[in-house]
Amino acid sequence: MDLDGGNRRVFNRLGGSSAAAPDSSKNQKVCYHWRAGKCTRFPCPFLHRELPHPSGPAAATANGSGAPKRFADDSGFSGPALRRGPNFNNNHNNSWGRMGANKVVRKTEKVCNYWVQGNCNYGDKCRFLHSWSLGECFTLLNHLDGHQKVVTGIALPAGMDKLYTGSKDETVRAWDTNTGQCMGVINLGGEVGCMISEGPWLFVGIPNVVKAWNTQTNQELSLSGPVGQVYTMVVGNDLLFAGTQDGTILAWKFNAVTNNFEPAASLKGHTLAVVSLVVGANRLYSGSMDHSIKAWSLETLQCLQTLTEHTNVVMSLLCWEQFLLSCSLDQTIKVWVATESGNLEVTYTHKEEHGLLNLRGMPDSESKPVLMCSCNDNSVRLYDLPSFSEKGKIFAKQEIRAIEVGPGGLFFSGDGTGFRVWKWAEAVPKP
Ligand SMILES: [Zn+2]
Ligand SMILES: [Zn+2]
Repeated sequence: MDLDGGNRRVFNRLGGSSAAAPDSSKNQKVCYHWRAGKCTRFPCPFLHRELPHPSGPAAATANGSGAPKRFADDSGFSGPALRRGPNFNNNHNNSWGRMGANKVVRKTEKVCNYWVQGNCNYGDKCRFLHSWSLGECFTLLNHLDGHQKVVTGIALPAGMDKLYTGSKDETVRAWDTNTGQCMGVINLGGEVGCMISEGPWLFVGIPNVVKAWNTQTNQELSLSGPVGQVYTMVVGNDLLFAGTQDGTILAWKFNAVTNNFEPAASLKGHTLAVVSLVVGANRLYSGSMDHSIKAWSLETLQCLQTLTEHTNVVMSLLCWEQFLLSCSLDQTIKVWVATESGNLEVTYTHKEEHGLLNLRGMPDSESKPVLMCSCNDNSVRLYDLPSFSEKGKIFAKQEIRAIEVGPGGLFFSGDGTGFRVWKWAEAVPKP
């Protein structure tokens, strides 16, 4: 991030140049399983990208405009229908929580401290877990570590075989998804509050600034305006939105002529920090430390409604089908649906025993929607939607601040100073 030569060289090493020129020392065979969208190897010895066409790397110009490009699964769900957001719906879905009693059979739900240290003598008879997860439908592929403090963001820019992690240790690390190696460290000079990717762009929120990198061209920009930490960002309607510590939501628009992000709007209304943002239908939704959710028109950027049912910080928001899901430190997940008047109201409340930090959605190996929610007891619960029946659980050494969805059934959970790589198990073919 600093413009001195050292960091610039580090960043160049992380950037798109290596993607355009495949490392000759690496196995030059494209992974057959990756092509089929289901490589389970991480690291994988083969290439997770197509080799350049003999007539030249066409991919380099695919995003030549430099404009942020949406990719299908950036919301964590694939398929355009899932970006609709809460719309008018007469027939409220009555299946929420219907099968909530179904539970995974389990031991005492605590990871064995002795096992973590590698010296539990009880083996199979131990009443605590000798595993970082519960549930049969996904497997742990890898655990990568290296930050000094907790990971607050995980991002996979489109078309890259790199994964980026941002941390409170004031650095971003780049990881090669083929080898699992950390390819470099970028010093930002401030705690990473959040990090997202949109098309080739990587956006990193640190106090008082948003850093924007084009991972294909190595263009690097500083977006000024935020007051205090940047806790959350989202892209919608060609605008980049950032929720900040002083309660303001800032918006920038990419100007292809100047090749820069220009300030577009400042949305005021929250009285405390904005810590969650999501875009659905024609709305921007913001969750705040003031316990409220605000719905904003993406066209006029006016606040349309303020939702005050949560009794603590609204940590994360998610759009699924016509619903808005919100989670809070008040230990609930609320499911919202639009009434005839267009206003949102709660149609279902799911209660947890712990404060909720983060919501993510993705399809499992049978393309059924799964909700992943991290709790402040250092776990992630996985639920079928809309039943909220439990599919499994992931444990970590610290609070899981970041969850990200990758291609081919992969997903990533922050775990203290590193992160874990998970994959949905293949669906068992029915005889
Ligand atoms: Zn592979
Ligand atoms: Zn044990």
